Amino acid sequence: MDQFFTFTDEAFLKKERDKARKLRSSQWWKRKRASGICHYCHNAFLPKELTMDHIIPLSRGGKSEKFNLVPCCKECNTKKRQLLPFEWKEYMDSLKK
Ligand SMILES: [Zn+2]
Repeated sequence: MDQFFTFTDEAFLKKERDKARKLRSSQWWKRKRASGICHYCHNAFLPKELTMDHIIPLSRGGKSEKFNLVPCCKECNTKKRQLLPFEWKEYMDSLKK
């Protein structure tokens, strides 16, 4: 049973994607990415290697707000995409140990 409500409303997704695109070119994001640290694995990367990730995906009702956007390395991004939210949580917990 899927306990998550899935947001597939195109207007919502378009608006949030537009907001994310604008934030990607902002000073706020450039400063955040300049740290070179992936939000999830805490490894160091070149800023250009980090992508913008929605902690709560747009498809799960997450928004393009600053608190929901983090720098993420390609490896974590790929892993996160393949996992369901609860599986990703298990992965995150395993990193903390
Ligand atoms: Zn990472």
